[in-house]
Amino acid sequence: MLSSLDTEAPREAKLEPGKSGRPALLLDRDGVVNIDHGYVATCERFEFADGIFALARRAVDCGYTVAVITNQAGIARGYYPEAQFLALSRWMAGEFAGHGVDLAGIFHCPYFEQAAVPAYRRDSFWRKPAPGMILEAARRLGLDLPRSIFLGDQPTDMAAAAAAGIATRVLIGDGAPGAATLTIRRLEDLTERLRADRGMPPD
Ligand SMILES: [Mg+2]
Repeated sequence: MLSSLDTEAPREAKLEPGKSGRPALLLDRDGVVNIDHGYVATCERFEFADGIFALARRAVDCGYTVAVITNQAGIARGYYPEAQFLALSRWMAGEFAGHGVDLAGIFHCPYFEQAAVPAYRRDSFWRKPAPGMILEAARRLGLDLPRSIFLGDQPTDMAAAAAAGIATRVLIGDGAPGAATLTIRRLEDLTERLRADRGMPPD
């Protein structure tokens, strides 16, 4: 499933956001799933963020589809080939699976306007803050975007989520909230909120 999602070319056409279907927890990668060490491209440098597996597992238990939405300008910059990103993504998905979470998709944008690699030099509708990746995820996975959650660590994540019609936009960290509707300091804060929203009793 990952390979079929990953090899699709970006779509520049306006897509209709999903108006029915399942809610999703959509995760930015660097700074959310893993510590942002800068252009992480190997599992040796891939350090999972504290609480990410518990959050994803809670989301699954609450009925959310879980997917990753990530800009990967490092591919365009020539820092690592797209095949290496895909291999790392398969490894990452395996780690989630080991914690009881089947990722529904890992959507990435390899394009960047100032790319060193000509094949990736373009202004893409998929690159956040544009909403293309989220809209494509909604179309492929049958997501209900208004009922979905986007979790990111950058203003561009919040802008992309807002443009895609996601009502719950969660920013982790102490940056300016921008289009965020909720700011959290730790992943556990969102895990707790998911439980509260579903009326689950505390542990
Ligand atoms: Mg990030």
